Amino acid sequence: MLPMTPDSKSPFMTDKDWSAVAPFFTPEENWGDWRKVHKELIFNLLAFRRFVNRPVVILNAYELTGHTGEYHPKGMAADFYVKGMNVVDQFIALTRFDGFNGIGIYPHWRPQGGLHGDIRPKENRFDPDARWIRDKAGNYIALTWENLLKEVKNG
Ligand SMILES: [Zn+2]
Repeated sequence: MLPMTPDSKSPFMTDKDWSAVAPFFTPEENWGDWRKVHKELIFNLLAFRRFVNRPVVILNAYELTGHTGEYHPKGMAADFYVKGMNVVDQFIALTRFDGFNGIGIYPHWRPQGGLHGDIRPKENRFDPDARWIRDKAGNYIALTWENLLKEVKNG
């Protein structure tokens, strides 16, 4: 679901699209090559940004290496955090937005915990790997109440 009408039929961000998401997001942020980032991802992040009404700091989006999963190399995933917001509250807020069909919780990032959000196809949103937590040791573990509580307490 796009909160605004994108500029063209291309799924990827264009120069013109940036004016629609300014001043909340700019091409100078850590998107990687933003021309390879899906506009649906960025417009979803814009809706999320408006909802939380706080700065959303982009850590990366388009990346070919350094990530598990297939959605960063497709420009369909971003890692980010909401400034000053508890990581669990970030997760609860992100789940309000339909388009984020894969969500990872990273309580141990510094300066603060944040999330991975991706726009994998909606029919894949119930896949076992569509929700996860990265623990303190860097392992990807299941999103369960017990795991979440343990990792947030160890945060
Ligand atoms: Zn990620």
